[in-house]
Amino acid sequence: MLRSMFLSLSRASRVQRTIMRWPLAWRAASRFVAGTQLTEALRVIQDLNTRGINATLDHLGENTTTTDEAAQAAAEIEHILEEIDRSGARTNVSIKLTQIGLALDEAMCREHVARILAHARDCHNFVRIDMEETAYTEQTLSLYHQMRQRGFDNTGVVIQSYLYRSGFDVSKLVQEHARVRLVKGAYSEPRDVAYPRKADVDANFDRLTELLLSGVLAAGAPPLGEDGRTPPIPAIATHDARRVEFAQAHARRIGLPERAMEFQMLYGIRRDLQERLVAAGYPVRVYVPYGTHWYPYLMRRLAERPANVWFFVMNYFRR
Ligand SMILES: Cc1cc2nc3c(=O)[nH]c(=O)nc-3n(C[C@H](O)[C@H](O)[C@H](O)COP(=O)(O)OP(=O)(O)OC[C@H]3O[C@@H](n4cnc5c(N)ncnc54)[C@H](O)[C@@H]3O)c2cc1C
Repeated sequence: MLRSMFLSLSRASRVQRTIMRWPLAWRAASRFVAGTQLTEALRVIQDLNTRGINATLDHLGENTTTTDEAAQAAAEIEHILEEIDRSGARTNVSIKLTQIGLALDEAMCREHVARILAHARDCHNFVRIDMEETAYTEQTLSLYHQMRQRGFDNTGVVIQSYLYRSGFDVSKLVQEHARVRLVKGAYSEPRDVAYPRKADVDANFDRLTELLLSGVLAAGAPPLGEDGRTPPIPAIATHDARRVEFAQAHARRIGLPERAMEFQMLYGIRRDLQERLVAAGYPVRVYVPYGTHWYPYLMRRLAERPANVWFFVMNYFRR
């Protein structure tokens, strides 16, 4: 119930305006958000890099409401790619298509993505297309395929294990040598498209992990980019130690080397597990969001773990 409440709050714009004025809200967000400025996020990434962890940088924003805002967001992503190149940071970039206008004009969004990918290629970098609500799943996958057809190999997609359709999508993507990030899924979805029970989402995550990892062996996947920017084909993105152990065990069973896969986690969550995986020789990438549009991102993190709310409130009053 609390999960649904936070997920509906993530879309409530009037509540957003009120909550964003509370100092406690920013304190809560700053556990998960690297700062409001790019320089702050790059500093966090340099620190991760020194600990042997790669990153994916996300300029927060979604559901843009005007074409001007979408164009500005796309230009900002190109600027970020240049700054990464200048800094030499071991990070790629994650984008949300509704930030650059998917909900407004698909053709315009497609051209923004093509320009971003061309720019990323010039900057020797990779762009991951995040997955949003199911209203956009089909369009997101289709746009990804169009980019591959246009010759862009420096991009990848995200598959959510809570969706019934994901087994079909993963089987197809594996054959296309697509770089896939596997997640459980962070939005509120109806039971006719998504598993309502967490146990089923977890079981499907393991099934999709098997499909992805076995698919990599069959595909003879290229090695991880030496600059830490191009990810291997499968990225297992979870903080769930059981899912991580399952992936490790399956990889060992089929003889997939540690460096042929990657584990991904969110900034501010399970740093202990990140470090354990690095020490065991696995590539680890942390998703580092920054910017002023942190509200929906924070609500999704609270939805995943409502206990976080009490943690923040207690800390606030203890101060
Ligand atoms: C790198 C990365 C990229 C992602 N990209 C997308 C995307 O494009 N689209 C999408 O829909 N979703 C995305 N997600 C979010 C994902 O779908 C899940 O909502 C999120 O990862 C929580 O699920 P879990 O796998 O960690 O498992 P859970 O079962 O939710 O959590 C397992 C354990 O992890 C810890 N944990 C999990 N969440 C939190 C939290 N918020 N605060 C504190 N501890 C926590 C707890 O110890 C918990 O017991 C991404 C996640 C990661 C790691």
